Amino acid sequence: MLAENLKHVEDNIQTACDKCGRKREEVTLIAVSKTKPVSMLSEIYDCGIRDFGENKVQEICEKREQLPADIHWHMIGHLQRNKVKYIVPDVELIHSVDTYRLAEEINIQAKKINRIVPILIEVNAANEESKFGIAPEETLQLVQEIAKLDNITIKGLMTIAPYTENPEENRPYFKKIKELSVDIAKENIDNVSMDMLSMGMTGDYMVAIEEGATLVRVGTGIFGARNYNK
Ligand SMILES: *Cc1c(COP(=O)(O)O)cnc(C)c1O
Repeated sequence: MLAENLKHVEDNIQTACDKCGRKREEVTLIAVSKTKPVSMLSEIYDCGIRDFGENKVQEICEKREQLPADIHWHMIGHLQRNKVKYIVPDVELIHSVDTYRLAEEINIQAKKINRIVPILIEVNAANEESKFGIAPEETLQLVQEIAKLDNITIKGLMTIAPYTENPEENRPYFKKIKELSVDIAKENIDNVSMDMLSMGMTGDYMVAIEEGATLVRVGTGIFGARNYNK
């Protein structure tokens, strides 16, 4: 069943790539497995997926112990500074950095183990009060500040678009974040590349790919709806 869901998502990704003339290899599918049991992650792993996204540090730590070591774990949720040390050794990419204080803590922990940790800056594209992320107007300044930290490398931007039934409504936000990343890239800041753009979820990943996403984060579309009341 999960294999069928995944096939459907893969077909959609290919369709979106074809529509805008991008290569499939330019887009990484991250299977967002939060709240889902290890058995389901295994099933998707066996279909060839190696990138998994979680929004809780504890869940990453528990699942990674039980699953193959070649999985790339993506931290996509709000990150508390006191939890940073648990993921810094193994995380593939932290998508959700939106303050200097958080970056500073990542840098401290990364320095201890002599690692350079790749991160994305989370931008609140629609200025929604309920969401984390830095305002688009303040992003360049934050990038400039974080870029000075030696044990962090900034790879791009991430955004969570508003919830909507109609993905077209999010196209302007994806465009805006793409433009912002191009503007920041032009500044040629040391230690900063804008090669990665993490945007698009189950409801809107095809539109996000058309607007330049290089990482799409799909949960429900692969694993089915989440039940938080268990
Ligand atoms: C849960 C989550 C997703 C996946 O959402 P779906 O709508 O289930 O695809 C993507 N990104 C972030 C940051 C999330 O927290």
